[in-house]
Amino acid sequence: MFLENNIDKAGRTGWIEVVTGSMFSGKTEELIRRIRRAEIAQQKIAIFKPKIDKRYSEKDVVSHDSKTIPSIPVTEAKEILEHIKDIEVIGIDEAQFFENDLPEICNYLANNGKRVIIAALDMDFTGKPFGPVPQLLAIAEYVTKVHAICMKCGNLAHYSHRLSDVQKLVILGEKDIYEPLCRECYKKSKLDKKKEPELFS
Ligand code: ZN
Repeated sequence: MFLENNIDKAGRTGWIEVVTGSMFSGKTEELIRRIRRAEIAQQKIAIFKPKIDKRYSEKDVVSHDSKTIPSIPVTEAKEILEHIKDIEVIGIDEAQFFENDLPEICNYLANNGKRVIIAALDMDFTGKPFGPVPQLLAIAEYVTKVHAICMKCGNLAHYSHRLSDVQKLVILGEKDIYEPLCRECYKKSKLDKKKEPELFS
């Protein structure tokens, strides 16, 4: 389990933490757990999320187990800078949906004494690294990979397999659209999909 470093009260040092994994891996739950502990430690917190994610609630960060925490929806990462006066701990949920300037902004925040905790999908539904996440993983002091359970075999899952054939990169959805799969089952499902046209020809 991740144990947090101590915030330097003189505000000299911050750092970046990334919690990443597939859908249903508990990323947001872990972000909320860390933010709650910072609150218990009487640190000032703020959580941001991209406006694109309207699955549950415009203002709250909600994890799949329905824990909520108020958040500030922003269109662009740089808007975060307008809300951080006096804030010591900054949470960023669904960070994969931000543009490529997010790593630079996180570095700026950490360099200015903020603890930045990021939750993000590591890969899109095609298995490719998602948006700014590879850069965030590279610059973070602490990276935690969390895993879901494969819906086909029960092993650890780290792919978010899309159940429909739509190719658009961003489709917000839940278990009706995505299922977590392990490498073996993901590979098999891709092969099965490739075979399908032959079956019907
Ligand atoms: Zn599996």
